[in-house]
Amino acid sequence: MTFENLNLSPALLKAVTSEGYTNPTPIQQQAIPIVMKGRDLLGCAQTGTGKTAAFAIPILQILEKSSQPNQRNKAIRALIVTPTRELAIQIADSFSAYGKFTGLTNTVIFGGVKQHQQTIALRKGVDVLIATPGRLLDLANQGYINMKTLEVFVLDEADRMLDMGFIHDVKKIISLLPAKRQTLLFSATMPPDIVDLANSLLKEPQRVDITPPSSTAVTVQQSVYFTEKKDKNDLLVYLLEKEAKDSTLVFTRTKHGADKVVKILARNNIQAQAIHGNKSQNARQNALSNFKSGKTRVLIATDIAARGIDVDGLSHVINFEIPNISETYVHRIGRTGRAGAAGKALSICTSEEYKDWKNIEKLIGQSVPVIKDHPYPTSHPSSFPAPSKPASTHAQKKPVHRNKSRRNYPRNPNPKA
Ligand code: AMP
Repeated sequence: MTFENLNLSPALLKAVTSEGYTNPTPIQQQAIPIVMKGRDLLGCAQTGTGKTAAFAIPILQILEKSSQPNQRNKAIRALIVTPTRELAIQIADSFSAYGKFTGLTNTVIFGGVKQHQQTIALRKGVDVLIATPGRLLDLANQGYINMKTLEVFVLDEADRMLDMGFIHDVKKIISLLPAKRQTLLFSATMPPDIVDLANSLLKEPQRVDITPPSSTAVTVQQSVYFTEKKDKNDLLVYLLEKEAKDSTLVFTRTKHGADKVVKILARNNIQAQAIHGNKSQNARQNALSNFKSGKTRVLIATDIAARGIDVDGLSHVINFEIPNISETYVHRIGRTGRAGAAGKALSICTSEEYKDWKNIEKLIGQSVPVIKDHPYPTSHPSSFPAPSKPASTHAQKKPVHRNKSRRNYPRNPNPKA
């Protein structure tokens, strides 16, 4: 299928071509016709599938077709709500790119920066507004935003939105929307609370499932390295020197952890920058653009900060710490292997994190290959799956470790090994 088959307007076709896209991705093939018909949509798709264009292109087409000359630049006609500022900026960039020949305007608003520039843009009037929830409500309360004029509402990354505690903000936003509207909801995973939200928000939606819920991108080659806590830093340095030699995104659980990793890498002559919520918006943008341009090879990020990162050709993701929410793993590794490109996801796991790791494998329905050939293997094999050498013939069938702290680890069939 080509973009011509999707009945796009000449302005949109021209933009898609100038972006260098030749064929629509599966989610675009399925979602664009549904959205262009004016139907509500429930999209289960992870980032990297071309999701943004799947909603931005048909929205632009709808707005372009029904635009009245005197309607332009007055009322907000489409609103996209997304959980992080990085993602909001990226979506706005996409609307600008796909809409550049339509004459439609957009602006992006998010917290953590002064509101002045944002209110100036809003006063001028925009067709499409991209917003994070807090700043949207803040500016709506101050009277800068009227949501009653909306024709299309998009709730993007809904699962992440709830994970980040935005449920009350989301409900408040929904209460400000006009009853007559078209609504699109996208989520990488479909846990029950998202299904409830979708039921309350969407009218007779068509559902598009691009990957089974919680599956990982097939193009991402995954592996796990078991080690001990004390060796984690050295193993990371080793992986960055031997395995992940190109642009690499390293995930930590905490902001403090991210800063610590930057220092450790600096001591080993690996230049890295961190991106997390404690950094100023400017510092985050700076770190991100250095990473995108290749000036910085390694970016250290927390989950929330990394959510909107879209780096073409990101070759490796390293999980320096295993996330305790399994879905987070899917989001993390979805940073690489985007739009069909090959990517690798390496995870460093200690015995303390093993329970979380097993939950991840359960969620993704795969057993990730274990790399044993590295300089920092664990010396506590009982904490992990059986070591590579064959178990002795005296292997005990009965579990060996019965104390509570070990209860969740697989039992070593050969305790003397
Ligand atoms: P997204 O899932 O929206 O974050 O998009 C992931 C990446 O795929 C972005 O870098 C887009 O520019 C790119 N992309 C989106 N649609 C296409 C397409 N039809 N062909 C090639 N690349 C695309």
